[in-house]
Amino acid sequence: MSENFLINNQGLESGKMKMCNIRTGLDKACLKEAIIDHLFYKQGCEPEGASINDVYLAVSYALRDRLLHHGLKTFDAVLEDEDIRLVSYLSAEFLMGPQLGANLIDLNIFDEMRQAVTELGFDFKLVLEQEEEPGLGNGGLGRLASCYMDSLASLEIPAIGYGIRYEFGIFDQEIKDGWQVEITDKWLRYGNPWEIARPESSVNVYFGGYTEQYSNEIGKVLRRWVPSYVVKGIPYDTSEMGYKVASCNFLRLWKSEAIESFDFSSFNHGDYYKAVMDKIESENISKILYPNDELYVGKQLRLKQQYFFSSCSLQDMMRMHLENQGKPQDFHKKWAIQLNDTHPAISVAELMRILLDECKLDWKTAWETTQQTFSYTNHTLLPEALEKWPLDLFKALLPRLLEIIYEINYRFLEEVKRRFPEDNNILSRLSLIEETGSSYVRMANLACVGSYAINGVASLHTELLKKNILNDWVSMYPDKFYNITNGITPRRFVVLSNPGLSKLITKNIGDTWPQYLNELKKLEPFAYDANFKEQFRQVKIENKRILSSVIKDRIGIVVNPSSMFDVQVKRIHEYKRQHLNVLHILTLYLRIKSNPDIEIQPRTFIFWGKAAPGYFMAKLLIKLINSVGNLVNNDFDVRDRIKVVFFPDFNVKNAQLIYPAADLSEQISTSGKEASGTGNMKFALNGALTIGTLDGANIEIREEVGYENFFLFGLTASQVIEVKQNNYDPRFIYENNMELNAVIKFINSGILSNGDRNLFKPITDNLLYGDPYLLLADYPLYISCQDIVAETWKDKDKWNTMAVLNVARMGKFSSDRSINDYCENIWKVKPFKLKIE
Ligand SMILES: *Cc1c(COP(=O)(O)O)cnc(C)c1O
Repeated sequence: MSENFLINNQGLESGKMKMCNIRTGLDKACLKEAIIDHLFYKQGCEPEGASINDVYLAVSYALRDRLLHHGLKTFDAVLEDEDIRLVSYLSAEFLMGPQLGANLIDLNIFDEMRQAVTELGFDFKLVLEQEEEPGLGNGGLGRLASCYMDSLASLEIPAIGYGIRYEFGIFDQEIKDGWQVEITDKWLRYGNPWEIARPESSVNVYFGGYTEQYSNEIGKVLRRWVPSYVVKGIPYDTSEMGYKVASCNFLRLWKSEAIESFDFSSFNHGDYYKAVMDKIESENISKILYPNDELYVGKQLRLKQQYFFSSCSLQDMMRMHLENQGKPQDFHKKWAIQLNDTHPAISVAELMRILLDECKLDWKTAWETTQQTFSYTNHTLLPEALEKWPLDLFKALLPRLLEIIYEINYRFLEEVKRRFPEDNNILSRLSLIEETGSSYVRMANLACVGSYAINGVASLHTELLKKNILNDWVSMYPDKFYNITNGITPRRFVVLSNPGLSKLITKNIGDTWPQYLNELKKLEPFAYDANFKEQFRQVKIENKRILSSVIKDRIGIVVNPSSMFDVQVKRIHEYKRQHLNVLHILTLYLRIKSNPDIEIQPRTFIFWGKAAPGYFMAKLLIKLINSVGNLVNNDFDVRDRIKVVFFPDFNVKNAQLIYPAADLSEQISTSGKEASGTGNMKFALNGALTIGTLDGANIEIREEVGYENFFLFGLTASQVIEVKQNNYDPRFIYENNMELNAVIKFINSGILSNGDRNLFKPITDNLLYGDPYLLLADYPLYISCQDIVAETWKDKDKWNTMAVLNVARMGKFSSDRSINDYCENIWKVKPFKLKIE
């Protein structure tokens, strides 16, 4: 492939004269000069006196210079070109992960930079570790947004990601006495070298107040919003470079600030303190990310956040559109806006407001434009995660938006009546306003009515959406529905985080697989090649050694790298069933206790994940895992054959250590609950075998890698419903399964909890009296499947064949494939190849 995709003025201008362009040069000598320059002029120090953070910042600034060249050229070109439709990805969360390493991979100068830094006398590994990652997301949904930004750039699709620049991202997790403790994430503390503030592109956002009618100069009757306060949004841009391509997108995150002394009346009345309080309130909007994953919490500040970033982003897009001579009614031709879940769904009403109140379009034109602009991704099947805002709150905060929503609803329900004249229930189910005692605005309904396309994130998820929560929408708009199975970026999750495996693959099939992941198919024959498998095994063991030493350093537990690494890392949630995993561990433990000489394949159970701070059961589960760890790891009879590790603070940086080091991937959610999952993909692509249910993308992973290379267990989604409808009685299983019975009794014996028999009762009671996630129903199947896993592990040769086949067959799950699906089926956009003159 061509290596001259990069803009390098040095090569173009000076021919043989070996002069460095300190801003764009890509060879080692230029990079060294650039680092020294930034150390001096940005950090104010000489290399001899530089701290590791100084070096990290200087290296990052040097890299940012190089990215900027690509980004500015790309956007100058695409904004002017009328034929280009840009993608705008609206998401309340972007879980980006550290930027430095990923950008070096994209620019293909990882080795050059390592050498430059090393020759300047610094430890490159420490420089990389110095980066504090932007934790601007909770988990899967935010990480997906960042994988999609990576693929958009790598496929050269012009795009902007829009979101919120939270001052405090997802909390850092510490474990004290086995319990989770939340620490504020001060990620901006030492500066963020990747972003550029653009205060001249600030926009104002209205809140509160009332609306009124007025006539304009030609006598047209219009409505306007008289707010009680106004907040300023300031954009911060971060370059989003593609892999080995010239073009570069960006992520634009909004920070809220007070507008300069807006509240003149307060000032004039000498109410200085009110003015100060208003300032503080404005700044609070982008202060903190809500740490709830898959759980809706109706907080006023959260609604403010959603409207704030939706309004800022739409105003920004409209400004660019109009500046380039676009007409308001052609807005959809310039922008394809993807709503990542319902967090930005208010955008549907906001675009209407802009088109009606500011651009003065008539309703019909405005609505046609709006409906051709948006598409909506649903991410959940859990009813508790569906957003709906209390009407009173909504009205007080966004009176003009509510008016517009009423009008959309009125016209929409008229259409529904025409289509289904006999059916009153469908009206109330499709209505944008829920009236069940108190009234609510339903955000999913707003997203559905305002979008031309609606998608689920894995085939099963899309099927279940169509069958259940969005069923009425299918009757109304059958052609709006699509499935786009999630994906992950192989650049971050293999090339960057698993260099050993990457080198091994490249050595055997060439170096284009990170762009064309289906090429991994060429590895299939190597699954039966003893020499290759031996190298593959060595890569895995080396990754496990690295993780083991980190575990030892950070939590003091010694684990054996040749034991099976059985890993469950993800948010702690009942539907993800970390406790099912615990029941298995205790089953093994009790088997050992009743026969200490029993043959047990050595295993290290690794858990990693955060619990929402207000989610009692999830936090108790963390305590349970740690208590089991304490017992098992220190029990003489166990003789180190099983170890249990709860590693604190799961984030992208840590994720990059763990996926490459796993042997077994636990994907054991109750079938029908996990929309897709993406952790499952990262594991399999790095050569872990999966034990999992028929849920989310597990189903498609199993189809791809082959049934014989996947450990399947558990009820199917339809069996889950059937069991629940047939008076499911978990106690019956408890009373008839001897191992399960002993495990549950053991949890309540007090042995795990310093004699306190009540500590874990909320967990066991939940299982015995209700068991909403059907752990006990799946327990016997899970245990026998785990026994098969252990049998298979004994035959290392077979295991490695299966693992290689997993890697070879995971091509479908590149986020490039997902983005291509969006481009072809939903956005109808094509790549734009930046020309380098
Ligand atoms: C991939 C990823 C997730 C999502 O994991 P699931 O197993 O799909 O729930 C969450 N957090 C981080 C940091 C990730 O990298």
